[in-house]
Amino acid sequence: MSALTAALEGWDYAGRIAEIKARMHIAQAQCGRAGAGVQLLVATKTWDADAAVAVVSAGGRLVGESRMQELAEKGDALRKAGARVHVIGQLQRNKAAIAVEHATSVQTVDSMKLAERLSRLCVEAERELDVMIQVNVSGEESKAGVDPDQALTLASNVQALPALTVTGFMTIGLNSRDEERVRAGYRRLREIRDAALIHSESGSLPLTDAWHLSMGMSRDLEWAIAEGSTMVRVGSAVMGSRPGP
Ligand SMILES: *Cc1c(COP(=O)(O)O)cnc(C)c1O
Repeated sequence: MSALTAALEGWDYAGRIAEIKARMHIAQAQCGRAGAGVQLLVATKTWDADAAVAVVSAGGRLVGESRMQELAEKGDALRKAGARVHVIGQLQRNKAAIAVEHATSVQTVDSMKLAERLSRLCVEAERELDVMIQVNVSGEESKAGVDPDQALTLASNVQALPALTVTGFMTIGLNSRDEERVRAGYRRLREIRDAALIHSESGSLPLTDAWHLSMGMSRDLEWAIAEGSTMVRVGSAVMGSRPGP
């Protein structure tokens, strides 16, 4: 995808967003999911407040931030611009208060300890918070996320905490060009989500709101959409090459 990304250099944010939405629509049509309402989250992490606000103004209202120090600096500007901010990076418990102050959702909940901290902070702040359960479907040890086998148990326990709503599952896909291996991971996440919804319908799990599948990035959003993604997280293909690491 680097040729496309390079070709897009110099375009305005609205043009890049339109380009990504076209890719999403084509991918949805090709797998029979036209009109399925897949959301675009723009990863604005590492970009400053001006760039993040510019992308929001261009129509990218749903943005993803990874570092809480940065979010503390950009949060007010993003809120004024009308953004919805999702935390998409690993969240340390001692930074959870920044997420609770500025984010509408934390997609990277992978432990009960983090969820309990978020819940307590939300109760104190008298607010509700959407969360997703991050699952490590690729089996790479370097990747964050709970084991697939534990995802439903964790999701149910998190849902039982005050002030938190589990809205779905998130994963960072395998960084590989091997379509079948990447898609197998995304399929695994979809199976976890489907099990959550089926068991909730019959009353044996409390996860009726957990229908989101946050999966797919600039390089592989077509594969993720084919496996059922409801939210793709796109950074470089909208923002350009990252200013920082
Ligand atoms: C940065 C980031 C993205 C976007 O990655 P690109 O390759 O720039 O599209 C997606 N998901 C997460 C968790 C990220 O941190």
